[in-house]
Amino acid sequence: MTDLILFWHRRDLRISDNLGLAAARDRTAKVIGVFCLDPTLLEDDAIAPARVVYMIGCLAELQQRYRSAGSRLLIVKGEPKTAIPSLAKSLSAQAVYWNWDVEPYAQSRDQAVREALKAQGIGTHNTWDQLLHGPGEVRTNAGDPYTVYTPFWRNWIDHAKAAPTPTPQNLEDLSTAEAEAATAAGVIELPGARDLGFVWHSPLPLAPGEQAARDQLANFCREDRAIAGYDDQRNFPGVEGTSLLSAALKFGAVGIRTVWEAADTAYSRCRSDETRRGVRTWQQELAWREFYQHVMYFFPQLAEGPYREALKDFPWINDENHFQAWCEGHTGYPIVDAAMRQLNEIGWMHNRCRMIVASFLTKDLIVDWRWGEKYFLQKLFDGDLSANNGGWQWSASSGMDPKPLRIFNPASQAKKFDPEADYIRQWLPELSSLETKSLVSGEISAQERDRCGYPAPIVDHKKRQALFKEKYKAQKAAD
Ligand SMILES: Cc1cc2nc3c(=O)[nH]c(=O)nc-3n(C[C@H](O)[C@H](O)[C@H](O)COP(=O)(O)OP(=O)(O)OC[C@H]3O[C@@H](n4cnc5c(N)ncnc54)[C@H](O)[C@@H]3O)c2cc1C
Repeated sequence: MTDLILFWHRRDLRISDNLGLAAARDRTAKVIGVFCLDPTLLEDDAIAPARVVYMIGCLAELQQRYRSAGSRLLIVKGEPKTAIPSLAKSLSAQAVYWNWDVEPYAQSRDQAVREALKAQGIGTHNTWDQLLHGPGEVRTNAGDPYTVYTPFWRNWIDHAKAAPTPTPQNLEDLSTAEAEAATAAGVIELPGARDLGFVWHSPLPLAPGEQAARDQLANFCREDRAIAGYDDQRNFPGVEGTSLLSAALKFGAVGIRTVWEAADTAYSRCRSDETRRGVRTWQQELAWREFYQHVMYFFPQLAEGPYREALKDFPWINDENHFQAWCEGHTGYPIVDAAMRQLNEIGWMHNRCRMIVASFLTKDLIVDWRWGEKYFLQKLFDGDLSANNGGWQWSASSGMDPKPLRIFNPASQAKKFDPEADYIRQWLPELSSLETKSLVSGEISAQERDRCGYPAPIVDHKKRQALFKEKYKAQKAAD
């Protein structure tokens, strides 16, 4: 009888360029996929319906891909430490393979699964797949993990990057008896997001699955497309100047080696410094993703709160009404409100606007950044602990960033990055008839606000940034 290996998918919802899956295929043709619907994750109150819809869509396509390759992807529901070993035992699996994950919960979950499998005499095999360089591969001269991005990038870019790994083919399926045993061990049909209690009506910014992710990547990296102009375009929320690959990278609908190869090919095609700069800047964003995952791995306390001492007991004002207005896009600051409406409506927000609204929440409303961090996770279809936490701590000046006090002025940001107010008009249609100057500066008369049904600013930016600075200074002095 052929050895059977269970491959446990988590954030790698694809069969192509999947290091752990390729390693399993190297050992046997009988590789059976499994995905576990984990109640700890699905019942968390920081979960976005759009994200679940995306994930379920990826799983549906992954099931088809397994079928085309000759095997199948099984779905189980329950605590992984019970569900995975029970399935492995029912199939007499020789081993369970999976790719590592940096998140603190994932690590403790995996440890519990490994122990339960070991108790049954079933081996495990793990690989770093979601990063070009796993934690520990890129260290300072002293051998420590980096805590600052720029030196990390300089070292990271000098490390050779692996090529995509081959897609497994000619897999062997379960026998009828094994399929029955799997059903008895709790295998279920893939539910819809709605069956799991998640309702999302809008089209996703990127369709789920491997094919859509690869098409998006190819499109973004095509000669005359966005990657070459990324350095100029990426900061303008009214322009489609970024890749929209964040959810695909979060769920592993596309392999990072595939992404890197596409960017490298685009780089080698560049004929000017400007286009080379575009590709390089995009590669730097991929490195930010790796940096935040590395620091989450080495400093898991980041997931719990501020990295900087000065921000540990910060006297946040935490006005619930202000927070609500921010969530709903009713702060009276057009660029902030446009961004929050984009998030609420499509489950994605442009990076420039993530920085603007995060600064506004923490420095103008003086609300604890963790409220915003959680709200983002409740809405974003690309919501990811490491990237989100990194972005919020950067914006709140509580993270590792060496420049601690960064305060964005909403009007200056809009003037620079949405000069024609295209983005503001798109997401705040009630203001579309107003002059560009008013939309960008936020200086809208009380009369016009009344006519458009748009609120007055809930705080005064100048006063609030002074107040934040005062609090920050006092806090640092008291440290
Ligand atoms: C407050 C805040 C919260 C954020 N929350 C998340 C989140 O939950 N999930 C998430 O994937 N990104 C998050 N980001 C980072 C960034 O905004 C998104 O990755 C980006 O907007 C996604 O769009 P894109 O795929 O078109 O990115 P592109 O500009 O095309 O970038 C390519 C890829 O690089 C990665 N990337 C880009 N910028 C960053 C960054 N600053 N940090 C980490 N990775 C980056 C993403 O995987 C992205 O898909 C956050 C940023 C801030 C300021």
